[in-house]
Amino acid sequence: IQLQRIDIDGLIEEVVALYPPQSGLEFKLDLEPALPPIYADPVRIRQVLHNMIKNAQEAMAPGVSGRMGIRTRLVGEHRHHYVEIELCDSGPGIPPEQADRIFEPYVTTKSKGTGLGLAIVKKIVEEHGGSIRLVSGRGEGARFIIRIPIASEAA
Ligand code: ADP
Ligand code: MG
Repeated sequence: IQLQRIDIDGLIEEVVALYPPQSGLEFKLDLEPALPPIYADPVRIRQVLHNMIKNAQEAMAPGVSGRMGIRTRLVGEHRHHYVEIELCDSGPGIPPEQADRIFEPYVTTKSKGTGLGLAIVKKIVEEHGGSIRLVSGRGEGARFIIRIPIASEAA
């Protein structure tokens, strides 16, 4: 992977701008200003965002305009800082009994799904030393938290 210093908020704004209102999602961004850069591969982080947005889009009932929130913040202790990206949507969510399998390849509930989107997301995030988890419960939309370590050129 091609690591470089990335302004994650700028990257999120860039990707979200590719989804106009007709795309069926209305975005609400809550981006922490002046986040330190992450040391990451911009092509792959873009793919992570697209896969997550696509899943939110596909989770919406046909003809219904959904909402997706993306929030960033800085978390962690000295020398163990992460950028946290929280992504939530107004879709039907993911039942707890499916939750532990969604990151496995080929696990899909869609008739034409590949089941690869989240597996790829997880792989990319882990290649960056980060993590992803589903934090939503029953009766709410999907909510994921991605953590990526902030820039450390020594790493
Ligand atoms: P695919 O999109 O091809 O089904 P993914 O790996 O992207 O494969 O997602 C796996 C499964 O996780 C989906 O089929 C769906 O059941 C569930 N899922 C993922 N994201 C969401 C979401 N935002 N809302 C509801 N279900 C989701
Ligand atoms: Mg998908």
